[in-house]
Amino acid sequence: MGGTFDPVHHGHLVAASEVQARFELDEVVFVPTGQPWQKSTHAVTAAEDRYLMTVVATASNPRFSVSRVDVDRGGATYTVDTLRDLRERHPDAELFFITGADALAQILSWHRVEELFTLAHFVGVTRPGYTLGDQHVPSGSVSLVEVPAMAISSTACRARVAKGEPIWYLVPDGVVQYISKRGLYADGD
Ligand code: ATP
Ligand code: MG
Repeated sequence: MGGTFDPVHHGHLVAASEVQARFELDEVVFVPTGQPWQKSTHAVTAAEDRYLMTVVATASNPRFSVSRVDVDRGGATYTVDTLRDLRERHPDAELFFITGADALAQILSWHRVEELFTLAHFVGVTRPGYTLGDQHVPSGSVSLVEVPAMAISSTACRARVAKGEPIWYLVPDGVVQYISKRGLYADGD
């Protein structure tokens, strides 16, 4: 499961847990993105902070792990690079790529989608506010999975911290504490 994870929240964790159970996956590997050279709408938090928050959030689940492939490659992350690197590290594994409804639409608009489908089976999960299944999904290459609705986004978590509002129970306790300890998001970034 790739993502910016800025910060990781319970929407990510519920989606991962649900897909793990549904497909009986041995492991869900969370892959925080590299640091983009250029900001898009906001400055993305340092990759090491996003990586560590993801480690903290997933530590208690024996089926969850975190990969540094995108963090260590650096620069903007392209899903095809993530999958090639994971394939190299796990040559015998059957790979699944988990995405929310919004990210799935973006990935499917990518011009070399055929190569992606040779690297992994794609799983699109439901996400409140986005429609799953409207995209032109090549049949057989993407599974659509309904997961418990968690109307949580990292953007909303960052905005809450900037306004001094609580994020308890939206993100794991250790992530609340990490954000506070490092003073993340306090300036509205
Ligand atoms: P931001 O608001 O910064 O974009 P985000 O909450 O969308 O953050 P990402 O790191 O962008 O989180 O998302 C990583 C992956 O998790 C994407 O595939 C996204 O669609 C999915 N995802 C994020 N939040 C949810 C949620 N609440 N329910 C289901 N899927 C989610
Ligand atoms: Mg997002």
